[in-house]
Amino acid sequence: MYEFTLTNSVNDALQRLCRQTGWKKVSRVMIKIGGMRKVNPELMAFIFAAVSKDTPAEGALLSVMLLPVTIRCHSCGKISTREDSAFSCPLCGSENVQVLSGLELSIEALEVESNSINYE
Ligand SMILES: [Zn+2]
Repeated sequence: MYEFTLTNSVNDALQRLCRQTGWKKVSRVMIKIGGMRKVNPELMAFIFAAVSKDTPAEGALLSVMLLPVTIRCHSCGKISTREDSAFSCPLCGSENVQVLSGLELSIEALEVESNSINYE
């Protein structure tokens, strides 16, 4: 299952971050995913709840931001975005296109509870 692989890699990245920084608990995670990846955000949140068990991210709220696919058309020269992942220009219908973005997968924001270090 594709969502499982992606969610697992997000969870792995979180574990690494927590080890490096000493964060004790992650309470919120926002990830950005390109539209080419065609994921189901609800399914990812569901899987995340399972794979983050017994880790600092257990119980964290996962939100998924889907990014549109950006393509450049070699026939009409226009750059456009589309919500689906069809490989064609929405303006002229040409399939002579180049995908500029749509495969992103990154952690956009995190909310953590760290060890209470008092800087004051
Ligand atoms: Zn075009």
